[in-house]
Amino acid sequence: MILRRCGNCGETFLVPRVRCPKCFGENFDEVVVNEGVVSDCIEIIATPDPYPERYFLVLAKTVDGVAVFCRSDKEIARGSTVVIEDLELGPVCRKA
Ligand SMILES: [Zn+2]
Repeated sequence: MILRRCGNCGETFLVPRVRCPKCFGENFDEVVVNEGVVSDCIEIIATPDPYPERYFLVLAKTVDGVAVFCRSDKEIARGSTVVIEDLELGPVCRKA
């Protein structure tokens, strides 16, 4: 998963922006992140195509403190470390 880090103040975020939300800087570096710690995990049912009919939606916090959502086919306990991978339908994770 690719995050953006402000070259001026170091603020890191997921969604691309024209300006840094903290210092309004305009220069960003891309940071590749593939690990996070689970903050929450809830089961999702009755999902739209093309997603699986049931999956777990995991809220994970990266080392930079950025909260990201990812899918998992298994329930993952809070506090667990996960490996995050970007796939065609969005990020997925599994227990590290
Ligand atoms: Zn900044």
